[in-house]
Amino acid sequence: MIVVLGGGPAGLAAATVLARAGRAVTVHEAGTYPRHRVCGEFLSPDAGPVLASIGIDDLPERLGAPTISSVRVTSSRGGRRLAESGFKLDAPGWGVSRFDFDRALAEHARRTGVEVRERSRVGAPAGFAESGGSPGGTEALIVATGRGVRTADDARATDAGNWVGVKVHVRDVAIPGVTELHCIDGAYAGMNEVSCDGERVVNVCALVRMHAWDRAGRTPGGLWRMFAAESPAFAARWAVARPVEGSEAAVAGFGFHARGAVTGGRAIVVGDAAALTAPVSGAGQAAALASGVAAAGVVLDEGERAVRVWESRFRAQFHRRLAVGGLLQRVMLTPSAASIAIRMIGASGRASSWLYRATRGGW
Ligand SMILES: Cc1cc2nc3c(=O)[nH]c(=O)nc-3n(C[C@H](O)[C@H](O)[C@H](O)COP(=O)(O)OP(=O)(O)OC[C@H]3O[C@@H](n4cnc5c(N)ncnc54)[C@H](O)[C@@H]3O)c2cc1C
Repeated sequence: MIVVLGGGPAGLAAATVLARAGRAVTVHEAGTYPRHRVCGEFLSPDAGPVLASIGIDDLPERLGAPTISSVRVTSSRGGRRLAESGFKLDAPGWGVSRFDFDRALAEHARRTGVEVRERSRVGAPAGFAESGGSPGGTEALIVATGRGVRTADDARATDAGNWVGVKVHVRDVAIPGVTELHCIDGAYAGMNEVSCDGERVVNVCALVRMHAWDRAGRTPGGLWRMFAAESPAFAARWAVARPVEGSEAAVAGFGFHARGAVTGGRAIVVGDAAALTAPVSGAGQAAALASGVAAAGVVLDEGERAVRVWESRFRAQFHRRLAVGGLLQRVMLTPSAASIAIRMIGASGRASSWLYRATRGGW
């Protein structure tokens, strides 16, 4: 029996690969499907080949996801726009709500034979590590629990707890085919069309540093008002937006410090649980899917050696894109630096193309 903790994109992709290879797999998911999650809901094109590898290359199409082929990015401070540029993406992505996406991934996993247990929160994998690796006959453990605190070291990291994410779906904002990023001091809000439960809406999702969250009065309502006051581009969208009731979600207390692809010496870690992809790159879901598929391959091919092999495989596959994404995020959340970067990106198609490719896998 292989146990997977966490039923987001990373855990479900890993479980699906293992089940397709004939292995018995149980996924423990703390929440339920469907549900709204904090995410910009831009599905990067490098998710395409990974979805194909688990037998659902038609998923975005089936979910009615709009394609997103360009970006508009602005930087503002104190109600004044400092810089703005736009560019076409090298390859389009899709706008898919997590409400639809996670549910569809879970359904597909179940169809391939995975046992997905909802409302099943499982504690830290320490017991697995200490018992020599096989409590209850578990032959491998994959940790895919996302961005939350994973270990005591995590909790002590200087960056831990410094970040907040907030999202809401809105109606009446018309930005077909574009993902917009509106940056202010210590925060950015992304906006793009998504398919959700049979409807096209616009997802508005913000990543916020704690000092900006304090400035906003520590409430989602205060946050959107702060964005509207500080960013004219955001204000123009927000003025006509009608929030979709029940679509709000928020998370607090996570950080971007290094976490590691192995825990307790015996468990394989995938997706955000291994390393948090900078949200501003819009590539976290694709990276989570890719790491889940890659880790499952290592479990199937390497047996006893899997944990050791995975540690170096993860670094080789993801280190560079994580580093570039992290740097980009630091720049975009500092208005003066963001303004310079936005002008450079606007002036050179090569710079935007390089950044887009350097923060994701191939397609
Ligand atoms: C503000 C923000 C904006 C973002 N925008 C984008 C974007 O536009 N595009 C993009 O691709 N990515 C984006 N991301 C990143 C993306 O959301 C993540 O990279 C992706 O969700 C990681 O997938 P995962 O499976 O590793 O983790 P998750 O999706 O977080 O899934 C982890 C799962 O584990 C479950 N779980 C946790 N603990 C336990 C436990 N103890 N037992 C059982 N289950 C447990 C949780 O309930 C959850 O379902 C954004 C992130 C943030 C914060």
